Amino acid sequence: MRVLVIEDEPDLAASLGRSLRDEGYAVDTAFDGEDGLFRAESIDYDAILLDVMLPKLNGWQVLERLRRSKKTPVLMLTARDTSGDRVRGLDGGADDYLVKPFDLAELLARLRALIRRTSGCASSLIEAGTVCIDTVARTVTQAGQPVALTPREYCLLEFLALHRGEVVTRTTLYEHLFDEDDSTLSNLLDVHVSNLRRKLGSDVITTRRGHGYCVEG
Ligand code: CA
Repeated sequence: MRVLVIEDEPDLAASLGRSLRDEGYAVDTAFDGEDGLFRAESIDYDAILLDVMLPKLNGWQVLERLRRSKKTPVLMLTARDTSGDRVRGLDGGADDYLVKPFDLAELLARLRALIRRTSGCASSLIEAGTVCIDTVARTVTQAGQPVALTPREYCLLEFLALHRGEVVTRTTLYEHLFDEDDSTLSNLLDVHVSNLRRKLGSDVITTRRGHGYCVEG
C-alpha cells in the first residue's frame, strides 16, 4: 500500500513516514498543499493523510481540487476540533477525520479501515484458499498455522488478496508497494513473490505471463 503524507511540520512528517514504513507501507511526503495536490493527482495512492493548515494551498483546497478528478481515500489531520470543521471535511469529500494530537495506533487503525473499505472489503479477514489474512492484526495463517512474513511481503500479499480474482500488473504493484525513495531493482518484486511462494506454497500466487500476478478469488 502506498500512502501520501501531506504535512508541513517536518518532525511530524518524518515520524509518520517512519511509522508507516515500519508497517510496510510505501510513503511519499509533500510539505505544502501545492506539491501534495500535484503528487495526489499524478499517482494512484491507496490513501492520503492530509493536514489542514498547510502553506500554498490549505487542506480544504487540496481536497476540493483533488475530488474533481480522484476518489483516493483521504484522512484529514487537523488541530481544530469543532463539529463545523468535521462537517466541512466530510462534506468536502474527506473519508475520515483525526484531531491532532492523535494517537499513532489510532491513526494506523483508521488508515487500515479506510483502505479496507475502499477496496470493498467489509470484513477485516480475507480468505484465499487455505490462506487467511487478518488485516487488523496484520497476521497470516495457512490452514490455521501462523506464517511469519516481513512487512513488505505482508503488504504484497494483502494487496493481491484485496484484488483477488483479478490479475494485478507489475506496474500497479510497483506503484502501490514502493515509494520514490525506494531504490528498487527490477527484480525486487520477483524476490518478494518467490519468498511468499516459499512460505505459503507455490499455488497461492499465480503468474500470468506478460500480465502480472493473481491471487485466485
Ligand atoms: Ca500544518
